[in-house]
Amino acid sequence: MKTGFIGLGNMGAPMARNLLKAGHALNVFDLNAQAVQSLVDAGAKAAASPKLAATDVECVITMLPAAAHVREVLAGKDGVLAGIAKGVTIIDSSTIDPQSAKAFAALAAEHGNPFVDAPVSGGTGGAAAGTLTFMVGGSAAAFEAVRPVLSAMGKNLVHCGDTGTGQVAKICNNLLLGITMAGVAEAMSLGAALGIDTGVLAGIINTSTGRCWSSDTYNPFPGVIETAPASRGYTGGFGTDLMLKDLGLATDAARSAHQPVYLGALAQQLYQTMSSRGEGRLDFSSIIKLYRTGEDA
Ligand code: NAD
Repeated sequence: MKTGFIGLGNMGAPMARNLLKAGHALNVFDLNAQAVQSLVDAGAKAAASPKLAATDVECVITMLPAAAHVREVLAGKDGVLAGIAKGVTIIDSSTIDPQSAKAFAALAAEHGNPFVDAPVSGGTGGAAAGTLTFMVGGSAAAFEAVRPVLSAMGKNLVHCGDTGTGQVAKICNNLLLGITMAGVAEAMSLGAALGIDTGVLAGIINTSTGRCWSSDTYNPFPGVIETAPASRGYTGGFGTDLMLKDLGLATDAARSAHQPVYLGALAQQLYQTMSSRGEGRLDFSSIIKLYRTGEDA
């Protein structure tokens, strides 16, 4: 498929590379010229604006930081909607709020374009390996239409329901992830303070009822899991500021649904504290530093 790809950051660049590897032709655009050049070196064609990236293609993908960027890229001057042909599907893989996804779908529909929200999980590793999970909101027909292009970037494609439900799935999962990471950090720190070997404690948790991904794959205690960011100074991985953004989306969505998120709101404040301390770029498992003040966590 000839595809327009806009947003070549930590996630978008490896995703675009996988599309090229699978034989798709790409028109790419990003504000960062270096990011564009690196994709051009891999075989993509540079476009001078989102409008030009969306001209004469069969599908457009956006992978941008937040809803404001998506709005600008779609509806701004020289935006996607100014260049795209009727009937061409727009896929937004950014993590944004469900209400904005619905608004963008309505805007696209006015121009005669199907729109799906298709946020991902799997992180930069999954993006590079082409093993992302895509949570897709939109019509069943639109889901089928985007399946070939998504399958070049991910291995688990789930149709969640109508427009916006892909974002609902994403923010509910990350709400829980933010909470479980804080919980594991709390339990591991208490165990360490009470004198148990942290490897033994993690082993018990991981074969007991406290087991979860935050404990058995991404344990926040340094040295417990060699491949986890905790064992390399919390570098790489999923940034605290990105977790904070997702918890903000979840608490905002909860407010609009009149639904309490007691633990999510508390977790949001914990990650906010890390961010305010200037540690927002560290992996989100560095939340354990709040429990281990004065120690080399
Ligand atoms: P990033 O900041 O690395 O990349 C965003 C890219 O968008 C940058 O290259 C930036 O130059 C470009 N950009 C910003 N505004 C633009 C505009 N107006 N026009 C064109 N390009 C523009 O972010 P990322 O880590 O790639 O994340 C992208 C999205 O994916 C976010 O919504 C994030 O929440 C989500 N996400 C990230 C991860 C992760 O592990 N990094 C995992 C899952 C989902």
